[in-house]
Amino acid sequence: MKIVQKYGGSSLADEECLRRVAARIQRDAQDGNVLVVVSAQGKTTDALTEKYRQVSSEFPSRESDALLVCGELASSALLAATLRSIGVDAVSLHGGQVPILADGPFGNAVIQRINTKKIRKAWRRGQVVVVPGFQGVDREGSFMTLGRGGSDTSAVALAAALRADRCMIFTDVDGVYSVDPRRFPEAVRFPSVNTATMVSLAENGAKVLHPKAAMLALEHDVPLEILTSFADREGTMVSLRSPERIGITVKPVSEEISAVTVIFDLPPNGKTLFLLTEAMSYFDGIPYYTGSALQVTLPTQHADDLIRAFHGILYPVE
Ligand code: ASP
Ligand code: MG
Repeated sequence: MKIVQKYGGSSLADEECLRRVAARIQRDAQDGNVLVVVSAQGKTTDALTEKYRQVSSEFPSRESDALLVCGELASSALLAATLRSIGVDAVSLHGGQVPILADGPFGNAVIQRINTKKIRKAWRRGQVVVVPGFQGVDREGSFMTLGRGGSDTSAVALAAALRADRCMIFTDVDGVYSVDPRRFPEAVRFPSVNTATMVSLAENGAKVLHPKAAMLALEHDVPLEILTSFADREGTMVSLRSPERIGITVKPVSEEISAVTVIFDLPPNGKTLFLLTEAMSYFDGIPYYTGSALQVTLPTQHADDLIRAFHGILYPVE
């Protein structure tokens, strides 16, 4: 078994989190080879961004990337040390050491190539490898960042390069839901979901997975599991063989306008569409229907009510 695990900033926020994550890795490392991708702890990236803004409004992008990667570098060193403290042989390898080669503009670079030799060598020695997410290096060896939220992309790219059996994305929710469970308690959890549906959900505002990561998983057929690091529970399996689902997302369009999207991979039946259209008529929004999505652009203050109305039609409570 080859497993890639990615832990987001909230899963690594403090010592207690680090120890919880290390214990989980210790257990999973008994079943095979583990590569861990880490984000910066908590709100570290925001704090670092604030620091360079204070220094200069024209902070050179090469230097801002060199600063921003520090959050993930710190996480990887801390997690590798925590693992060693509980007897797990672990080593951290940053983007330049792997190496993860990237190209494109600083601040929004794209991974071009990953050399997996050092990772596989460490695996042969029985080590857990910890790689900071969100970073790569250019041909000169300068650090480049992949855009905010880029650690998901690092994890899926590494899983694809290593042909991992599974890429587990640990986050603060325990899977993919019909609507954001942090804001709508009526949300229904999906045990599994098709990667194509996941791409649409992510692109239209679902926060569980970065859209670029979802797209990479689709292109390279990487099986994902989205789960929480805060409880010992199975998550949502995301794969090309999983069923398509209906989900509702919301995304800001401007300061006062939001786009609410219903993603159907299967075209809805006439009755559902009629009910959705009727619900929509109570709102002052502009609808747009493509056959696989219904999108309504409306004032943000009404978005939650429309989402609740749509959700009640698509997932009626018995
Ligand atoms: N730390 C980076 C960010 O906050 C990357 C990530 O968390 O994925 O955007
Ligand atoms: Mg983050």
